[in-house]
Amino acid sequence: MTNDQYSFENPVTRYDSIAPPEQRQPEPGLDRDLKPRADHGEDSYRGAGRLTGRRALITGGDSGIGAATAIAFAREGADVAISYLPDEEPDAERIIALIEQAGRKALALPGDLKDAAYCRSLVERTVEAFGGLDILVNNGGKQVSQDSILDISDEQFDETLTTNVYAMFWITKAAVAQMPPGSTIINTTSIQAYQPSPTLIDYATTKAAINNFSKGLAQQLAPRGIRVNAVAPGPIWTPLQPSYGQPMEKLTQFGQDTPLGRAGQPAELAPAYVFLASGESSYVSGETLGVTGGKPTP
Ligand code: NAD
Ligand code: MG
Repeated sequence: MTNDQYSFENPVTRYDSIAPPEQRQPEPGLDRDLKPRADHGEDSYRGAGRLTGRRALITGGDSGIGAATAIAFAREGADVAISYLPDEEPDAERIIALIEQAGRKALALPGDLKDAAYCRSLVERTVEAFGGLDILVNNGGKQVSQDSILDISDEQFDETLTTNVYAMFWITKAAVAQMPPGSTIINTTSIQAYQPSPTLIDYATTKAAINNFSKGLAQQLAPRGIRVNAVAPGPIWTPLQPSYGQPMEKLTQFGQDTPLGRAGQPAELAPAYVFLASGESSYVSGETLGVTGGKPTP
């Protein structure tokens, strides 16, 4: 990939239609061990000053969609804090280095999103390090596929809801108390909010909740000048998928059932987050932007 994100290449062939080899990683999975490796825009994303001087916090910013967004935000001129699980340190170190190479401040915030005190500390520590917070991206998430509801343990159900929904609530509440007018909140939902897979009952439920939370909160915060939007990715090649995110037979054909015929790369998500974070989207709030490879959303 030598072209930048403004390339007019054919979207069908812009990236290879990957047929990933069978692979399993323990949760949460490392980008480092993904086969083939994913593209986060390391060699392609070109900044244009669209987020100059902004201060951002991105959960799950070590890998996948969050990592691509972190790189793009930094190249657009924002200081970027990323949260991730302590086991993901190798992936996080790479992204921290890329933020710094863009000439911006980076802040590494390892910890567990299931811990409310940690979630609140993310906001405090970002404000302390950057002098404020203008962009919050609630992106960290847990997805574990199960063939039957009988296989979803109470523990899994609880952990999926806590990671994907409660953490978003805790972090957003702490952030709203600090955010000046002009700030933006972006939540990562999914095509699963509209088209739930039979193997992702608990996960898809959280993604519908995230969409609904975003649209309600957007109306509540509009008079304060804070916009809230969501991004709904389709199948994107990230460590979430081989770490029990998909049944093996689906993993090896990942994304091939989209109209574009291939899985998306994290790099293809970043411009959606940049748009919603920047002043260009000043009249956009309560919206969910689908980035689905052509799969229809309502
Ligand atoms: P990813 O594995 O790269 O990112 C998910 C991140 O969540 C991890 O890196 C990890 O840091 C974080 N995380 C998970 N559990 C955590 C916990 N308990 N504490 C702290 N951090 C935790 O995968 P991704 O696909 O880039 O996922 C990012 C978001 O995109 C998720 O919300 C996911 O649901 C959503 N999404 C992904 C796809 C896809 O096809 N990959 C599709 C739709 C939506
Ligand atoms: Mg990760």
